[in-house]
Amino acid sequence: MRYFAFVAVLCAIGGLDCARAETVAIHATKIYPAPDKPTIADGVVVIRDGKITAVGPRNRVKIPKDARVSECSGVVTAGFQNSHVHFTERIWDDASSQPAKDLERHLEAMLTRYGFTTVFDTGSDGANTIALRTRIQNGGVRGPRILTVGLPLYPPDGIPSYINDLPPELLAKMHLPRTVEDARADVRANLAAGADATKLFLHTSPGQGVVTRMSAEVARAAAEETHARSKLVFSHPTSVEGVRTAITAGVDILVHTTLGEKAPWDAELMRQMTAKKMSVIPTFKLWKYELRKDGAPEEVIDKLIGATLQELRNFISAGGQVLFGTDVGYMHEYDPTDEYVYMAQANMTPMQILASLTTAPAERWKEDQRRGRLVPSADADLVVLAGDPADDVRNFAQVRCTIRDGKPIYRAP
Ligand SMILES: [Zn+2]
Repeated sequence: MRYFAFVAVLCAIGGLDCARAETVAIHATKIYPAPDKPTIADGVVVIRDGKITAVGPRNRVKIPKDARVSECSGVVTAGFQNSHVHFTERIWDDASSQPAKDLERHLEAMLTRYGFTTVFDTGSDGANTIALRTRIQNGGVRGPRILTVGLPLYPPDGIPSYINDLPPELLAKMHLPRTVEDARADVRANLAAGADATKLFLHTSPGQGVVTRMSAEVARAAAEETHARSKLVFSHPTSVEGVRTAITAGVDILVHTTLGEKAPWDAELMRQMTAKKMSVIPTFKLWKYELRKDGAPEEVIDKLIGATLQELRNFISAGGQVLFGTDVGYMHEYDPTDEYVYMAQANMTPMQILASLTTAPAERWKEDQRRGRLVPSADADLVVLAGDPADDVRNFAQVRCTIRDGKPIYRAP
C-alpha cells in the first residue's frame, strides 16, 4: 500500500511516467475483436495498466469517470505480428549505444507505422538485436516486442551469395554445422545467448551454379535440440527438396514459399506439411522485389508469382496455417501494402489476412491466452486503422496509431 501511495505522490508532482496507471478509452467506428468474431460498430476499447479492461458498443460499455479519451480513433484491431523481419541494415549498428530517438525513428519507419507490435527477426547479429530488444524492454526506446532467431545455421560452406555483403565480422560468427554434434552445440549456444528460436537454411547457393544442402540428420538434430527447449524451428527452404527436408527434420515454420519450381507444391507435399502442422510465411512482395532487382521482365515476374499464389491457395485449402511476414529489413522497401494485395489475390479473405497478423501467430507461439484478440484481460496491443480492411485490404497498412502494452508506440502525423 505504501508503495502505491508513494507512486501516487510522484504522479501528482509529475516526476514519473504514470501512463500505465491511466485508464484510456479508444473510440472506434468499427472494432474487429478477432477474425472469427462479429464486428462491433461504434465501439469502445478501454485499457488500463497495459491490459484491455472492456470492449463493446459505446452505449453498453461503462467507461470509468477518470478515463481519458484517446485522440486516436478509427477501425480497431489487435496488434499485428510481422513474423519475418531482419535487423541487419547498418542503421541498427551499435544498438546498445545509438541515441534512442534515432532507433525510434528507424523502428517507426520499418515497423510501428504499419501496426506491428510484435516482430520476429529471422536472422541477424543476435547480440545487437538483443541489445535493441533490451533497450525497448527497459522503456528507454519506444518500439515493438522483438523476438529473434539470432544467428541462423547454414550448410557447410553455404553462406548464400545474397548476404555476402554483410560485415565480415558478422559473417565470421555464422553457424555452419558439419555434424550432428556441431548442430546441437550451435543451437544450444544460440538459445543460451537469448535467441527465441532456431533458423535453418536447408538449401543455399553460395555462388553462381553452386548449391549446398544441409543434411537431413544435421537438420533433424538442430530441430530436436530446439524443441527440447520448447522453442520453434524456422526454415528457409529455397526449393521443394528443401521443403521435403524441412518436413523430415520437424521444422515448424517455412519463412518463404519456393520460387521458380516447375509446378506448385503437389497434394502429397501439402498433406505432409499440414499433417506436421507446418506454418508458411508467403513473402510474395519479396519475390517481386528480388525478380525486379535481377531485371526479370514483368510477364516473367507475374508468371512466377502466379505459381506461388496458386501454391498458397492449395496450402490454405489443405488446412495450412499462414503467418504474415515480409522479409523487411533484408528487403529495403518497408511498405507492406503489396503483400496484403497479393494475399488477397491468393484468395485470402480480409479476415484470413487479419488472422495471419494476429490470432495465428498468437496461437503458434502459444500466447493466445494473452494476445491476438481484443478481449478483457488481454495485453493492450492495438492498431487503429484509418480505413476498413473489409473494404480494401490496403487499409491494413493505413495505420493511425499503434499501441503496445497500453502505450502509444506510433501516431500518424
Ligand atoms: Zn529473411
